[in-house]
Amino acid sequence: MVLSEDPHIHLKHLKPLPAADELVDKCIECGFCEPVCPSKGLTLSPRQRIVMWRDIQARRRAGENTASLEQSFQYQGLDTCAATGLCAQRCPVGINTGDLVKKLRARTAHHGKAAHWLAEHFAATLKGARFTLRTANGARKLLGAPRLARWSAALSKTSGNRLPQWTPALPQAAAPIHFIPPASDSRPRVVYLSACVTKVMGPSASDREQTDLPSKTRQLLEKAGYQVVYPEQGEQLCCGQPFASKGYPEQADAKRQQLLDALLRASRGGLDPIYCDTSPCTLRLAQGLAGTQLDLYDPVRFIRTHLLDKLDFTPQAEPIAVHVTCSTQHLGESQALIDLARLCSQQVIIPEGIHCCGFAGDKGFTTPELNQHALRSLKDAVQYCSEGISTSRTCEIGLSHHSGIDYHGLVYLVDRVTRPRAT
Ligand code: SF4
Ligand code: SF4
Repeated sequence: MVLSEDPHIHLKHLKPLPAADELVDKCIECGFCEPVCPSKGLTLSPRQRIVMWRDIQARRRAGENTASLEQSFQYQGLDTCAATGLCAQRCPVGINTGDLVKKLRARTAHHGKAAHWLAEHFAATLKGARFTLRTANGARKLLGAPRLARWSAALSKTSGNRLPQWTPALPQAAAPIHFIPPASDSRPRVVYLSACVTKVMGPSASDREQTDLPSKTRQLLEKAGYQVVYPEQGEQLCCGQPFASKGYPEQADAKRQQLLDALLRASRGGLDPIYCDTSPCTLRLAQGLAGTQLDLYDPVRFIRTHLLDKLDFTPQAEPIAVHVTCSTQHLGESQALIDLARLCSQQVIIPEGIHCCGFAGDKGFTTPELNQHALRSLKDAVQYCSEGISTSRTCEIGLSHHSGIDYHGLVYLVDRVTRPRAT
């Protein structure tokens, strides 16, 4: 045994943990966050992101030129982070490295005017997105899926990935929802909030389910005896998630507030429950609910809370794969989703080792290698499944592409295996 006579030995030769940002300064570099990170092994893990950012800050303070390190951090640290914050779930001191990434993205987000215009003209943005999907679907019909996939892959490569690649998993355009003022009705009311992605993105052409999610959801809610009502000016509404993840928090918060106000009116001051069909959007809204009376649900919590006593389930024999999105995990609904899936199918597969799919809203288009890396083991894991379910339409695009089976919303499965309970 070696003992020291130095009374300050416990303070010497410690690993340096230079201050970098208050969001991550408590990091002890333990690495508990690493297993859930979709970019680990492709670029950096959350711990490595923090280490690199700390190093850059320490060098800057020492007067060193950090330009090349920062250039490398742009791709390794920022571009390939899904920013969904799954790392925070494993961190003993609650650090969300995705928050640091979003903060750093905001520093270089120089298209504030364009973001502001998009926020103000959101209905036009949705129209444009539908037009793009319709054009792509027209090209598929004209050229055939294999040829379009080949041509699009070549174009995407030539453009240095600036043009997203078309794959058969891409959605067709969904029809817009038309607002109808709610009629007086004795049924219990539910406010249905369809997220922008589900308002725009219908099923892929190959999917066995060809009804779009808003129509399927309405069908399920009405089967359970609900009157479905919609917020007014729905095409203009958005929870702000796309703005937040791109580094435009001001526009993001303004969109969320506009949506919360519309939901308050539609739910008669919080009297009626609100069903949001997309988990990431539910999570973003839930983070802004403090001080409001809104009774907000994601699909899992609404089905388990309000539909189980109104529907009879007959589980199908066909095996299904379940993807628990990052937001479902943040909302604390992971086990409930799995339990629901088990009510619907006799065989439920939850692929091991896949925590975040890495699609992250649009990263599946702009940084497809992240999605590919995160889902590299998916195809083998779901080889005996005929379909997959999830609660986020964008995640489902990447999941379908990398698994070879069609992923769609939980409500398709619930609707298929249920009938109204006789009263
Ligand atoms: S937010 Fe997601 S991708 Fe980014 S560091 Fe955390 S786990 Fe990794
Ligand atoms: S788990 Fe938390 S403290 Fe540990 S390395 Fe990751 S961010 Fe740092």
